[in-house]
Amino acid sequence: MYTKEKAVVNSFIVDHTILKQGIYAKASKTNESNVDAYTTYDIRMIRPNSPERMLQPDVMHTLEHCFATEIRTILGDEVIYVGPMGCCTGFYVVLAGTSRTPQDIQVLMKQVLETILEEGYVVPFQNPVSCGNYTFMDFENTLKACQNYLNLINEGKLEFEYPYIQEA
Ligand SMILES: [Zn+2]
Repeated sequence: MYTKEKAVVNSFIVDHTILKQGIYAKASKTNESNVDAYTTYDIRMIRPNSPERMLQPDVMHTLEHCFATEIRTILGDEVIYVGPMGCCTGFYVVLAGTSRTPQDIQVLMKQVLETILEEGYVVPFQNPVSCGNYTFMDFENTLKACQNYLNLINEGKLEFEYPYIQEA
């Protein structure tokens, strides 16, 4: 029987019943795994467990291509990773260092969303050589998701502090 105590995953101790759309940061300093300081940003586009529920997987995939490309176009090698959440409510962006605040990332995301929403934007690397499922995309609904999130940013409606689960 497997008896080892399980690891505590930061996002699983966030109270998702009160988590709203926002940008949240978890900084990690150099530790025993010899990974240098980095920060994981939670780009939360859908309110968890709400009627809206999720972005469709083909929209998540389209956003992944757009975000991975446009965030790196702006920040370059500072970007360690950009990837979709399994629950389809947002993305993780991992950046080197711990200096950028969630508010800085909001400015970044505004720029990224405005780029994607520009007339004539083409989804990057949507071809069978670069992607494992290149026809599994929905650009029309991706634009709607981008516009919705941009509206929240412009209206100042994003949250920036994780609601951690309170110890009983
Ligand atoms: Zn792909």
